Amino acid sequence: MVTRKKVMARGSRGRQGRRGDPGKNVDNLDDLDDLGHLLLGAHVSTAGGTPNAPGRAKAIGATAMQMFSKQASRWAERECEEEECRAFVTALSDTSVRATAAHDSYLINLASPDPVLRARSLASFEAELRRCEALGIGYLVSHPGNFMDDRASGLARNAEAIGMALERVPGRVVVLMEMTAGSGTALGATFEEMASLIGAVPMPHRERVAVCVDTAHIFAAGYDLVDDYEGVWARFSDTLGMDRLGFLHLNDSKAPRGSHRDRHELIGEGAIGERPFRSIMTDERLVAIPKVIETPKLDDAETTDRRMLERLRSYAV
Ligand SMILES: [Zn+2]
Ligand SMILES: [Zn+2]
Repeated sequence: MVTRKKVMARGSRGRQGRRGDPGKNVDNLDDLDDLGHLLLGAHVSTAGGTPNAPGRAKAIGATAMQMFSKQASRWAERECEEEECRAFVTALSDTSVRATAAHDSYLINLASPDPVLRARSLASFEAELRRCEALGIGYLVSHPGNFMDDRASGLARNAEAIGMALERVPGRVVVLMEMTAGSGTALGATFEEMASLIGAVPMPHRERVAVCVDTAHIFAAGYDLVDDYEGVWARFSDTLGMDRLGFLHLNDSKAPRGSHRDRHELIGEGAIGERPFRSIMTDERLVAIPKVIETPKLDDAETTDRRMLERLRSYAV
């Protein structure tokens, strides 16, 4: 089993390791009041290149960030050249960001029964892992795929592919399988299914796999964060174990509970509402878990994201 310590150690390495001096950025925790321990941020744009992302995270007062390392809706692959990696690490070192994640391409379906699509997905997923390693990004967030034919076969194909990719791209990036809303044949909408998926990833690669809980997705999948907050986490804990929780996506939901529709809303302004986010921000079990928002950016990403992070920080006190 992966342990919290292991997952967090990876996060710490991503936050500090390659820059060498763990204490270096502690004085830079501006804008964070006494909540500097929180790992809180947003999915930020890489428009103009990955080295531009850290500055955008800094502008919203983030201590965690998520980004794409390529155009997420295209198959075209790329590798990160040394100059890009250097510029990214330098830009990141000028921020208070201590946890970094990349979200993989939406086209990847490691569960596909179509051998051509699955091979293409596997190659693309491996390239995602290589870019994370090159940039020093701690986590790669990936959606379990769509099974298309039958669920058990889809899970087996997905788990096997994750194992193959981690075999071919050794390193320390933690793969975070994201909980989904479960529309159509999408896998990963229940804790039980996520436990089966991760349990089927061969050792030792299973140690590098954890879960990303997206609040909007699990709510749309049916989990009642509003009226049974404790019950939801009790089920997570019983089924997967809290040590397996690596990351949180904090999003409110435009879609009602159980709708299986993935529609993100501003924090506290959707069907989930303010209260569960207050619970999350004060939950001792979740303090050390990096949290990023993927909420609508409205007219101005910087202004909106900054406002959402301020709102979440206000819930934490
Ligand atoms: Zn996602
Ligand atoms: Zn998400």
